[in-house]
Amino acid sequence: MALTGAGLSTESGIPDFRGPGGVWERFRPVEYQDFLANHEARKEHWRYKRTTVPAMLSAEPNAAHRALAELEAARRLAAVITQNIDGLHQRAGSRRVLELHGTNLEALCLRCERRVPIVDALAQLEHGHDVPRCAACGGWLKPATVSFGESLPPAVLRDAADLAERSDCFLALGSSLLVTPAASLAAVAKQGGSALIVITLGKTPYDEIADVRIAAKVGAVLPEIAASVLG
Ligand SMILES: [Zn+2]
Repeated sequence: MALTGAGLSTESGIPDFRGPGGVWERFRPVEYQDFLANHEARKEHWRYKRTTVPAMLSAEPNAAHRALAELEAARRLAAVITQNIDGLHQRAGSRRVLELHGTNLEALCLRCERRVPIVDALAQLEHGHDVPRCAACGGWLKPATVSFGESLPPAVLRDAADLAERSDCFLALGSSLLVTPAASLAAVAKQGGSALIVITLGKTPYDEIADVRIAAKVGAVLPEIAASVLG
């Protein structure tokens, strides 16, 4: 199985929001409870999405996304667990994708839980609404990403932990493995007897226990690894 982080997205030209010059320097992160309770917070969060989502929608999957899709198609990869919210794994052809932090491609009605494409919500902003509403019930729409202060989706987490436990080879790709619980999945896999392969630029807390450690861009090495696995 594979766990993917921000490195895969940046290799597709999507800015790392947390890095220097990232959008967090221009926007205040909105906490989940604030979004529910405070209209100014809802407006701020949608201004942020209006600024950042279009770049994500125009990004293309890269060689790393495609290699993972090929491994899955050949039944050599059970699933991709991702911290990314850009939908690029699915666009590359991956079928089983567990999105720990939700998706930026949809918005969700806070009242009736209906999901709509994010482009429909953004279109409402273009027509002068400062917070888009659900067409079915009039409730506020929230991007279907997991906000600060919001729990991760429990069913996704459970499936991810289960996959990590049963994994025989765990690929940690483009992640600094600093954010739990995503990062702790690497430990779960290792404790369950899995091999741990860490491919990312920069250090991770799991470098010492990794069976294989490659400091490189994922797109530069994973296609070659996939080709050798697939013969
Ligand atoms: Zn609704």
